[in-house]
Amino acid sequence: MKFSSLLVWISIGLISLQCSSQKQLTKEDYDKALPKYIESIKANSLKDHLYIFASDEFEGRDTGEEGQKKAANYIRDFYIKNNIESPESPFVENYFQHIPAKTYPRINKDTENVLGFIQGSEKPEEIIVISAHYDHVGVKNGEVYNGADDDGSGSVAILEIANAFKKAEKAGFQPKRSILFLHVTAEEIGLLGSKFYTDMQPVFPLENTVANLNTDMIGRIDDAHLGNENYVYLIGSDKLSKELHKLSEEINQKYVGLELDYTYNDENDPNRFYYRSDHYNFAKNYIPIIFYFNGVHADYHQPSDTPDKINYNALAKRTKLIFATAWELANRENRILVDKK
Ligand SMILES: [Zn+2]
Repeated sequence: MKFSSLLVWISIGLISLQCSSQKQLTKEDYDKALPKYIESIKANSLKDHLYIFASDEFEGRDTGEEGQKKAANYIRDFYIKNNIESPESPFVENYFQHIPAKTYPRINKDTENVLGFIQGSEKPEEIIVISAHYDHVGVKNGEVYNGADDDGSGSVAILEIANAFKKAEKAGFQPKRSILFLHVTAEEIGLLGSKFYTDMQPVFPLENTVANLNTDMIGRIDDAHLGNENYVYLIGSDKLSKELHKLSEEINQKYVGLELDYTYNDENDPNRFYYRSDHYNFAKNYIPIIFYFNGVHADYHQPSDTPDKINYNALAKRTKLIFATAWELANRENRILVDKK
């Protein structure tokens, strides 16, 4: 073989090698891969986390107290162990966003939001926020308010979702947009951890924040659905983006099959849940949100909200829906449109 033709062969070889290593996965590849990672979300794993997270040792996770710090460390340790990074930001120090005492009158002691992050491959500046509050109401008259459903359920759901995204990333399915796992504090005293994030220190610019999927109580069955573990209330999905609502419905139908109950989405519903959890601090900034919720029950804000009362199959299925919806938001071609301002 002549030298010149050898060179041609070598260059062809190099080019094809480059092409295969840079082969861009299509949306169809991501769609095909999704069921595998949905199935990686396990009821038992959620249960293992929640029995620790809502144990008496965590003392009801009252804002600024020892139990809340234990919970914050539990979340951080999970991210470190699973190689999920802390976002790079002047507002975040090793997974913690510090909120000094008296930033708001009701915050008596220093407290912190906890943040984990997986960077997007194609549009890293566009962020999907998955949130839950990890604080609860502490100990009263010697009784621990464990807050297993409120919102231990949402807190451990995020850990399991983060793990599913990480597993996918390791197998080559890095999300195209970035995912922020946001565990907020001080919800029970006025949505203050999320308010601090949106109003004082948005770790990522709000204009680049594509959507917020928030969970607050997703582990129980309410009286309206006794004997039916296959439902979840959705609130807010159609308020700012018709595209978000449509996508949420389609993803559920295709991959999960929960009954989506919109009872509390009615503007005239007296409970006004749309305004009552952390997603509202995103929604007020015209960031489309979905709030996932199981409805109220007799143990709401009682010491009897314990991990033995959680329906782990229901919790797993709802967690799967949130993960699948986040996957679609992160990997679809176009950022969802905001149609109401
Ligand atoms: Zn709550």
